[in-house]
Amino acid sequence: MPTYNRADLAFERGEGAWLWTAEGRRFLDFGSGIATTSIGHGHPHLVRTIAEQAAKVMHVSNLYRVPQAERLAARHVEASFADSVFFCNSGAEANEGMIKAVRKYHAENGHPEKFHLICFEGAFHGRTLATLSATGNEKYLAGFGPPVQGFDHVPFGNMNAVRGAIGPQTAGIMIEPIQGEGGVRPADLRFLQELRAVCDEFGLLLALDEVQTGMGRSGRLWAHQWAGIEPDVMSSAKGIGGGFPLGAILAKEKVARHLKPGTHGTTYGGNPLACAAGNAVLDVVLAPGFLEQVDRVARHLWKGMGELAARHPAVASGVRGAGLLVGLQLTPEVINSDMQAAAVEEGLLTVAAGQNVLRVAPPLIVTEAEVDAALEMLDRAARRMAPASAKAMAK
Ligand SMILES: *Cc1c(COP(=O)(O)O)cnc(C)c1O
Repeated sequence: MPTYNRADLAFERGEGAWLWTAEGRRFLDFGSGIATTSIGHGHPHLVRTIAEQAAKVMHVSNLYRVPQAERLAARHVEASFADSVFFCNSGAEANEGMIKAVRKYHAENGHPEKFHLICFEGAFHGRTLATLSATGNEKYLAGFGPPVQGFDHVPFGNMNAVRGAIGPQTAGIMIEPIQGEGGVRPADLRFLQELRAVCDEFGLLLALDEVQTGMGRSGRLWAHQWAGIEPDVMSSAKGIGGGFPLGAILAKEKVARHLKPGTHGTTYGGNPLACAAGNAVLDVVLAPGFLEQVDRVARHLWKGMGELAARHPAVASGVRGAGLLVGLQLTPEVINSDMQAAAVEEGLLTVAAGQNVLRVAPPLIVTEAEVDAALEMLDRAARRMAPASAKAMAK
């Protein structure tokens, strides 16, 4: 179906941060399939684990115990705020389940009228009907009938608006610690702390969408750790499977205990193959020193991106995000998709984001030398854009 505006590029093979087309053109992949190939392409441990598991057993359904899922869940619980995990196959599905979990919690506590979630302008939570309604973007909702009820949108970062939106029907607050699709916009750490406090004050659940920000992307395992807070429930996907489709809902016991047999489910979710992949990714990301190395390379990238923006004021006006999720804010004279195309010409893959931002999200295994190479390509791309921006400014 014509759902995508695809670039005329097809990749045959990848290794680490690099991709090759069938014609042998080589690209540095700083998009990571939208922050998903977290440990790079062709990671030997991930490849071997998937191959070995595929040869043993791929799928059995959730009618039976799945030791790979039990192990992966236990490891996620050990490494996070959560007491319990539900596996699914994508970010939208994880959010859909998270929304259901929040509603169920209040219903089981005698408040079925509490089913509203406070969400934020500029959010992106997925493409199912409920997650689209949580996203609230009119353009994405158009033509699909009435949105799912119960999502109240307020400006991102506005605590007064949050407080003003809380009513007798409010069940919780749903937020990305850093809005990814919306333009790599980080929430203030103070704002996240205040959301935690207001949830405690009113008995609301804090539901974090860490589909894009999690699994080490920010330099910590989960981005909310930078704020020193814990959510009640959290969604994850993208990076946790390293490119193999895997999503997860992580939750505190008080939320999870209401999702009894028959309340929620999935056929594929948490099957032996997906969870073997998830375990292999965790082996890499939780290895001693790995996240420290991510943080170190990220700081190198940030320094370079800041210098790049300073060198090209007609093209870029700033840098934002966290860790290896970096947004280059472009000036109104330069369109992000044009800059992205210019970077492709130089051999660098990036991803456009909202608010005219160019999103840079290399795999977590990226080296400083590769970051330097990418910065040079971006510099050349910015120089390509400069004449256009100069012309626009002269008008
Ligand atoms: C990508 C993304 C989703 C949707 O994930 P899919 O796997 O595409 O369904 C949801 N929330 C956030 C924050 C995302 O970045």
